[in-house]
Amino acid sequence: MQYETVIGLEIHAQLLTDSKMFCGCSTKFGSEPNTQTCPICIGMPGVLPVMNKKAIEYVIKTGLAVNCKIASYSRFARKNYFYPDLPKGYQISQYELPICEHGYVEIADNGSTKKIMLTRIHLEEDAGKNIHEGAGNYSLVDLNRAGTPLMEIVSEPDIRSPKEAVEFVKKLRTILRYISVCDGNMEQGSLRCDANVSVRPYGQEEFGVKTEIKNMNSFKFIEKALEYEIKRQIKVLKDGGKIIQETRLWNSERGITESMRSKEEAHDYRYFPEPDLVPVDVDSGWLEQIRTHLMAPTFSFVRSSVHLEEPDLPDIKRQRFICRYGLPEYDADLLISERAMAEWFEQAVKLGADPKIVSNWMMGELTKLLNEENKQIEECMLKPEHLVGLLELINKGIISGKIAKTVFEEMYKTGKNADTIVKEKGLVQISDEADIEKAVDEVLEKNHEEVERFKAGDEKLMGFFVGQIMKATKGKANPKIVNELLKKKLGKE
Ligand code: ADP
Ligand code: ZN
Ligand code: MG
Repeated sequence: MQYETVIGLEIHAQLLTDSKMFCGCSTKFGSEPNTQTCPICIGMPGVLPVMNKKAIEYVIKTGLAVNCKIASYSRFARKNYFYPDLPKGYQISQYELPICEHGYVEIADNGSTKKIMLTRIHLEEDAGKNIHEGAGNYSLVDLNRAGTPLMEIVSEPDIRSPKEAVEFVKKLRTILRYISVCDGNMEQGSLRCDANVSVRPYGQEEFGVKTEIKNMNSFKFIEKALEYEIKRQIKVLKDGGKIIQETRLWNSERGITESMRSKEEAHDYRYFPEPDLVPVDVDSGWLEQIRTHLMAPTFSFVRSSVHLEEPDLPDIKRQRFICRYGLPEYDADLLISERAMAEWFEQAVKLGADPKIVSNWMMGELTKLLNEENKQIEECMLKPEHLVGLLELINKGIISGKIAKTVFEEMYKTGKNADTIVKEKGLVQISDEADIEKAVDEVLEKNHEEVERFKAGDEKLMGFFVGQIMKATKGKANPKIVNELLKKKLGKE
């Protein structure tokens, strides 16, 4: 029997607010344990929470960016459970009235797109962190993270493969980063993904029993964990067994999922409305104001005076990159994945460069150089105008394509213009026929044997001769002239 996979994701995104959800403590990552706490976030009795307006705005922003309906009235609820990292004994969350409902995210799907529907987006506070280290028979608790605003995005069970799941998380992460509500750092845990997965025989309408997988802190692990879990479930069913609804943990060292606990039901949490907080009223004025400022106008790396259009969300950019600039989908998807990349690209094009050529340089040399230093595009000295200047030199025949790579690297390292570098280093292309002819003659003289073989029909040697001449001229000879001269001298014309 063939089985179909069904996946629904729950994404937790830490919001980029400076202070926590219900108190003024800092949300900075990586400080000494328990240095960012106060009576509110460590759960002392008798204190009262105060809502962080920014956090609510960020959830509304997200809702708008992923096509949700924004509730004009929503409410917080207490979710009760006991765990050492939750000193109050309950988490302030949202239950029956979340801020956002019914949205969707579009993912690329074999040359077309597929909508993954979203059930809801709600706001809650994060818990602290238990630390199990040291030899003693104890655990430690760090409450710096307790009370950090956390947004939970729940998808419908619309995802049909581990690959789609990864596409979905990537797209969502891109959107959250475009609108600056979450940094999307999966290793540091500011973006976490729980995956609900089940299998069913093809053709069966009813869903199978699902398990929920936690603890996958990279795209690779999401894919691996799901692949493993799907295989495991199919094997259980094929062996005549039943899937138990439970929460499982991904063990990245062993490459398997392991049972953690049986699934708790909503009634286990004894949800009830949070009595210490007023409901959230979103009037149309506030909503419109948030919509207008959905994205900061432009990315901070921008140096030139070129004016970009209104900042766009990734889907709109993607469409423009394909339709207006004629980029292949592959290029468009890569370039839109980070807002700074997309704006860098668009700025170079606005300055007059050919879109596909810009894209090639960005996906090739630039990405290579950035990866070598583990840097982001907005951190590098090479600006769109640098590339545009370089392309002009190539077009005018002043430098060869090969030299251009050297100049590009130098621009990247120094932030100098292509012009300056070419002058300083004397990299101007040699187009003088007499000079090139000298080099050609020398190479042919030195390589008698190859010349004979060439004349006897081994035409592959053409590349060898060109290479030798380029080497002799340190890459500066105009390749077109080199080829012409070679053909003439070897009697191919
Ligand atoms: P629960 O009652 O366990 O909280 P929900 O219906 O609230 O389950 O769904 C939680 C998540 O699990 C959602 O992302 C949803 O899309 C997904 N989900 C629900 N049923 C299934 C299923 N049978 N297989 C895979 N995912 C599912
Ligand atoms: Zn606090
Ligand atoms: Mg549920």
